[in-house]
Amino acid sequence: MSDWKKDNTTLKILRAAEKGKYGVLSTIAYNVDHVISMIKAAENKRSPLIIQMFPWAILHSNGDLVRCASMLAKRASVPVAIHLDHCQDPKLVELAAKELPFDSIMVDMSHYEKEENLARTKELVKLCNEHHKATEAEPGRIEGGEDGVCDTADLEGILTTPEEAKLFIETGIDILAPAIGNFHGDYPPSGPQLRFDLLENLQPLVKSEDIRVCLHGTNDFTPELVHRNIEYGMSKINVNKLVLDTHLEFFEESASKLPLTDLLDKSNEILVSRMEYWMDVFRSSNKA
Ligand SMILES: [Zn+2]
Repeated sequence: MSDWKKDNTTLKILRAAEKGKYGVLSTIAYNVDHVISMIKAAENKRSPLIIQMFPWAILHSNGDLVRCASMLAKRASVPVAIHLDHCQDPKLVELAAKELPFDSIMVDMSHYEKEENLARTKELVKLCNEHHKATEAEPGRIEGGEDGVCDTADLEGILTTPEEAKLFIETGIDILAPAIGNFHGDYPPSGPQLRFDLLENLQPLVKSEDIRVCLHGTNDFTPELVHRNIEYGMSKINVNKLVLDTHLEFFEESASKLPLTDLLDKSNEILVSRMEYWMDVFRSSNKA
């Protein structure tokens, strides 16, 4: 392993989680209040944390939300990494790798056919590594769409086999995001139906290749389902709705009723307590 990978914050957090058999919340932040509240919860719970952003956040703030989050993460009293989720534009991967303080980047070329997906992923992983960013990719295709990430619901979802995963590991990635029936956005009324047999089949490969595994699409997950995924070696668990739901509901209900200062304080408090609840469920509390 190269020296920078030993010190990379995302990878350090995930290796410790895997060893300690707990999951790490990888939460989507849309603004600086989210970043502040998420770090506050991590410090209150003495939990490691990964804060991630969609490419939207770079374009929305000309990169300043990333710079701000990175500064706050470095000042935190617990390990906090900054990750770029689902970067589907090769030019934006390049910009993020060269100019922004991310610890890790998800190179998502899954909207291309397999050969081109692999070739582009390999090239971009090399570029990211030159700038000491760890990388994540999804072999197969996780269906659905989320906040500016291109909707693949009209493309056929492809479940991840060990053969597929191996091809992606050969591109040099550090984190694998398998498609095991998980879905971006809300699940149908029947709820998530995950193929744990596929996850089981991946175990020998990810162990021998020293790869971390990341779960996408956790809307509507129960604590039991989170635990089952952690038992199968998932260490990076992406969450959006699970932690932002009550915060956003409060915001919507109270926006015209409260002074702005109260609205921000109260909605942030709600986010902190929801984060703390899930940190306990993930068993990452008191691990930092
Ligand atoms: Zn995702």
